[in-house]
Amino acid sequence: MKRIKFISALLMLVSILPACGQTQNEKQNSTTMKENADEKPAIVIDKNLLKEKLTAEQYSVTQMCSTEPPFKNKYWDHHITGVYNCVVCNSPLFSSDSKFDSGTGWPSFFKPVTDSSIIEKSDNEYGMVRIEIQCAKCHAHLGHVFEDGPRPTGLRYCMNSASLNFIPEEKTEK
Ligand SMILES: [Zn+2]
Repeated sequence: MKRIKFISALLMLVSILPACGQTQNEKQNSTTMKENADEKPAIVIDKNLLKEKLTAEQYSVTQMCSTEPPFKNKYWDHHITGVYNCVVCNSPLFSSDSKFDSGTGWPSFFKPVTDSSIIEKSDNEYGMVRIEIQCAKCHAHLGHVFEDGPRPTGLRYCMNSASLNFIPEEKTEK
């Protein structure tokens, strides 16, 4: 995977700016990062149905690429064992095992559940080059990835809680 080195330098600035901006419904200026990034989503849910199903914030983040406020979202300080699924299509995206406290006020992970759970797209909003993360199945906007994460990957997947639906692990302990 190619990532642009100077992203790290922009990090502090980026952290306080909205994620991929108020792009209109389609992101025409995005460049393909993986071969599958421009493919049609496997799941297409009618926008009107989605508006009924999701809260206004969930719709705005996942479908219009907006960003929820830091520290005022559901999962930034959430430490229960389980899996974070896509709020739109319920596909598993991130595990609590890879969640860490980034200090940014957004839920942060060092890796997705599997590499095929997500897709990456170049995001050139605000004159910056960043990498947008979408759900591989339905192409919901999730957040961005940066290269200042912890080991073992060194990556920080900075997500919006509004894109995620947490499923706690079945309690098997006695
Ligand atoms: Zn999805």
